[in-house]
Amino acid sequence: EYLEITVADEGLGIVKDDLERIFIGFEAAGPVPPENGNLGMGLALARRFVELHGGRIWADSRPGTGSTFTFILPRDGTLPGESAVPRIMIASGDDGFLQMISHCLKEEGYDVTMAASGQEALQSGFTHPPDLFLIDLSLKEMDGGAVCLRFKSHAGTRNVPVILVVPAFTREEQLKSTRAGADGFIVKPPDLGEMLSKIKLLIDQKLDYESLKRGYEIAVSQARTDPLTGLANLREFWEVLDREIERSRRYQRLSSIAMIDIDFFKQFNDSYGHLQGDEVLKLSAGIFREQIRASDIVARYGGEEFIVVMPETGKEVALLVGEKLRRAFAEHPFTGSVAEPGVRLTISVGIATFPGDASSARELVDISDKALYRAKEGGRNRVVAWEAP
Ligand code: GH3
Ligand code: MG
Ligand code: MG
Repeated sequence: EYLEITVADEGLGIVKDDLERIFIGFEAAGPVPPENGNLGMGLALARRFVELHGGRIWADSRPGTGSTFTFILPRDGTLPGESAVPRIMIASGDDGFLQMISHCLKEEGYDVTMAASGQEALQSGFTHPPDLFLIDLSLKEMDGGAVCLRFKSHAGTRNVPVILVVPAFTREEQLKSTRAGADGFIVKPPDLGEMLSKIKLLIDQKLDYESLKRGYEIAVSQARTDPLTGLANLREFWEVLDREIERSRRYQRLSSIAMIDIDFFKQFNDSYGHLQGDEVLKLSAGIFREQIRASDIVARYGGEEFIVVMPETGKEVALLVGEKLRRAFAEHPFTGSVAEPGVRLTISVGIATFPGDASSARELVDISDKALYRAKEGGRNRVVAWEAP
């Protein structure tokens, strides 16, 4: 799966023979003459970056019209070389053991790092966690069990499996490694075949777990996101609002919401088509997001309806935010992908504030909807805060 990005430039254009040359690195030993102000370094760098990430870049050009640059990148953001080969860290004060095991693991194709002391193991393990730790119990400076415990109690290394190397197969040694939270142990000198199969099993489990976890995180985030606009969906909205109202009630704070509805959107769809309508909805999400604070959240409430939750915000400020949203929307020329360049659209906004206007999340939304209705009745393209009749 590749991601394709095209950038257009309305410049002078480039003749075909030069198209390949423009990506070649700039070489100048001395001062550059002023008429040659553009060094072309950017393109050479861009190509290096894109290729480093496993992608490709090329240019198309028509002299007099301009150029387009297109690059494609692999979609799953992993860099080549990253986690392609599992990495194992061995920590032992016994240099002979360290060298022997390291050699054996490298032969198996693992990427190996070594640490000769407990401090070294912690330092390197925390800054660059491997896929597995192999730790000698009898480490210098710090007992291997203590090192293991430290790794197991930190979020960044908790899921990295640890194999402890114990001096003898006794119940006491077994107990030590269990107490340290190790995932397994091997007895020194190890049976290499057994050691390798333990390592492989633990690393496979770790990588499986990580890929499941990634999939789960993606699924969770998708379940809370509106696919068209990328905004929070209704489910996420209610969760956020319920939490916010609960918090406002407990600490006796104010919270406001703004219900937004695009004016005459049916007409827009009828004139330009549903797909262009969808484009407008996508662009709207960006306009709203740009206007609000980081602590505010904007959700897609329904078809062409959006809602903003503003924690710690009273009616006056909420009105100002609503007005900012209204103005930004009205002034936005919906150009580019939208059918007719420069089409203007407007929104109507209804504001309601907790606890003045309502005593629950549901009621607050109902009231903001009523305020919105008043904005529509009043002629649209306006912001109305609820006032009890
Ligand atoms: P006003 O709100 O100003 O009263 O008029 P309106 O035309 O916007 O209101 P109405 O509720 O009558 O119509 C809403 C329209 O929004 C209906 C539909 O064409 C459009 N719409 C709703 N959801 C979507 C969507 O997901 N994509 C597109 N393209 N249009 C949608
Ligand atoms: Mg509507
Ligand atoms: Mg509408």
